[in-house]
Amino acid sequence: MMERSSVSNRVLDRVQRVQEEIATLCQRAGRDPREVTLMAVTKYVDLETTNAAIAAGVRIIGESREQTLREKLPGLLPGAGELHFIGHLQTNKAKSVAAMADCIESLDSLRLAEALSQAAGEPPQRVMVEVNIGRDQNKSGVDPDALPEFLETLRGYRGLLVEGLMTILPIGLSKVENQRYFSQMKRLSVDIQGKNSDNIIIRHLSMGMSEDYREAILEGATIVRLGSALFLDQ
Ligand SMILES: *Cc1c(COP(=O)(O)O)cnc(C)c1O
Repeated sequence: MMERSSVSNRVLDRVQRVQEEIATLCQRAGRDPREVTLMAVTKYVDLETTNAAIAAGVRIIGESREQTLREKLPGLLPGAGELHFIGHLQTNKAKSVAAMADCIESLDSLRLAEALSQAAGEPPQRVMVEVNIGRDQNKSGVDPDALPEFLETLRGYRGLLVEGLMTILPIGLSKVENQRYFSQMKRLSVDIQGKNSDNIIIRHLSMGMSEDYREAILEGATIVRLGSALFLDQ
């Protein structure tokens, strides 16, 4: 067991190092570092460590299971900016997660869209559409070719506010291959921005995890989702 303070110090140190890295990458890409928000993915860690990330200034906390979110929520420090749900979401848990999460980044089916839209009241539920850019059969997400039609249908779900796209790349690709997929995501997000409507206001591109966030930032990510780089020993 580590002392409370050493947990906080270690997390603070990692968060600061990653923030510096993000700033450097933004500079390299000619981007304003304020365009990129670090999400701490806290699915691996306990409440205390999650709160250490909030105390370190992280503005978005990401969780991938309904149960974990439910258990941690009452104990989270009030300074947490936003809670995002990033895991595969079963329709029967949609209502519960909608009541807890500020934004659900893993919208991957119309059935789920319908359940979330019904669960939401005013204001609408903020969501992002998960895109399976690598067409990986083991992953969920909307096929990139089906995205325009998917979004067209979402216009009818008035309980939803669609804010962006999220993706998880297939594992084990080279940096060049990662960058190519991220660049395809950026192109998709620019294409659909031209079709913004009342409840579709695309402004986020959530892409990049511990192994590939550098390439994601170079290609236009606005949210990078980091778990192991912040919390696990490397
Ligand atoms: C776990 C997870 C992450 C973080 O993964 P790391 O490789 O540990 O940074 C990011 N996004 C999603 C959707 C996840 O499930």
